[in-house]
Amino acid sequence: MYLLCDIDGVHIPFPAPNGEIPVGFQPQFVTPTGHDEPVKIWLNPATGRLLLNAIADLPLTPLWCSSWRADSAPLIGHPLGLPTWEHLDLPLLSITTSHPNGYLWKRDTVTPYIGDHPLIWIDDDFTPADHTWAAHRTTSGTPTLLIQPDPHQGLRASDLAPLETWRI
Ligand SMILES: [Mg+2]
Repeated sequence: MYLLCDIDGVHIPFPAPNGEIPVGFQPQFVTPTGHDEPVKIWLNPATGRLLLNAIADLPLTPLWCSSWRADSAPLIGHPLGLPTWEHLDLPLLSITTSHPNGYLWKRDTVTPYIGDHPLIWIDDDFTPADHTWAAHRTTSGTPTLLIQPDPHQGLRASDLAPLETWRI
C-alpha cells in the first residue's frame, strides 16, 4: 500500500490574501535544486508529527509526490522530522494549470506507478474527476483514499481522521 504526499498546500500552506500564514508555521529559507538564491518557505513540525502518528500502524510505503521532487526529503521532510522517503519522479511539464486535462496532472505518473496497489494520497489539488477516479478504484477492489487539506491551512488532524478507521 502506498502513501503519496504532496508538499505545497499540505506541509507548506499558501498565504491568505493578506499574506498571513497559519499560526505555528515558521518562515525559513531553503535553496531548491536549480535555484541560485534561497526561497522563503514556512514549515510547522506539527504537520510531520501528525502524519507520522497517523500512519504509524499502517503497512505503508510512503513516497513524496510533489514538484519538490528530490528536494522533498532533505529540504522539507527532514526539517519536519520525517524519515527519508523516496519521491515519485514527476515530469517537468510546461503547464500553467494543475489540471490541464481536468484532473490532477500528477495522476498520469501515479497511475502506472502504483498499479493495483491500495493507495492513500494526500494533496490539496484534487478535482472532482480525481475523486471519481478514486471511488472507481475503490469499488473495483483497490482501496483508494484521497485526503485533500485546505491549502490555506495545511495538513490538520481532521484531515487524517479517516486513517483511524482505514484498514484493508
Ligand atoms: Mg499542492
